[in-house]
Amino acid sequence: MRLLEGRVSIITGATRGIGKGIAERFAEQGSHVIFTYVSSDEKARALEQELEAKGVKAKGYKFDVADFKACEEMVTDVVKEFGQIDVVVNNAGITRDTLLMRMSEDQWDAVINTNLKSVFNMTKAVQRTMLKQRKGSIVNLSSVVGVKGNAGQANYAASKAGILGFTKSVALELGSRNIRSNAIAPGFIETEMTAALDEATVQGWRDAIPLKRGGTTEDVANLALFLASDLSAYITGQVIHVDGGMLT
Ligand code: NAP
Repeated sequence: MRLLEGRVSIITGATRGIGKGIAERFAEQGSHVIFTYVSSDEKARALEQELEAKGVKAKGYKFDVADFKACEEMVTDVVKEFGQIDVVVNNAGITRDTLLMRMSEDQWDAVINTNLKSVFNMTKAVQRTMLKQRKGSIVNLSSVVGVKGNAGQANYAASKAGILGFTKSVALELGSRNIRSNAIAPGFIETEMTAALDEATVQGWRDAIPLKRGGTTEDVANLALFLASDLSAYITGQVIHVDGGMLT
């Protein structure tokens, strides 16, 4: 029996990296996948085909997750078509790194709106459906940086720390209706983006991690699968680190 057989999952930002890895893992485990993206049309169509080849329904929606109304409209559409929403993975995120001294208001707003406001938007949009179902799992992508802070990432760290407070508050508010809310804090995950970095620098990062390697999108997707599925039925309000022991 597959872990998400017949479930309906929404994943934000799934055309690349971690979100794509989660979409693939969920589809393999029987979940229909509705995903969002903001620019990569070709990748979105290719992902729909790849996921449907696994025997589930897949649909990509193009809009900015920082847009409250757009999130609501997408969820209304999904409920009309699928009749239920079992899982939401709030994954879409951006960085606009620079020291505070040089950080513009636009760089602050872009990161807070895309990374943090989006989590409010999507959670608020699915809340009514999950309350009616008396079941749901909300999985939010935070970061080691949201727990520890990082020079040059004050905006990103604030957005990811904000997600932790939001995740725990939602767990407290919605627990009595069997709606769970947990956060994932990845460390250094190797994606297409990090493949473009200088190999010596990346090797230095790997050497500093107790497990002596960067994480893969599959490492994060496996945790997302656990939190989405009934294997974690008694787990809510938690922040789980997937970082090779980086913070230990
Ligand atoms: P990524 O490769 O840059 O992919 C980001 C995804 O989000 C893309 O699908 C992108 O769509 C989408 N997106 C960006 N802005 C959006 C918006 N405004 N509205 C809708 N979709 C939007 O990111 P990643 O490295 O996989 O990271 C995924 C999440 O994990 C992020 O929240 C990140 O902060 C967190 N994280 C990553 C790491 C890491 O090492 N990679 C570590 C800790 C935490 P398009 O393709 O259309 O642009």
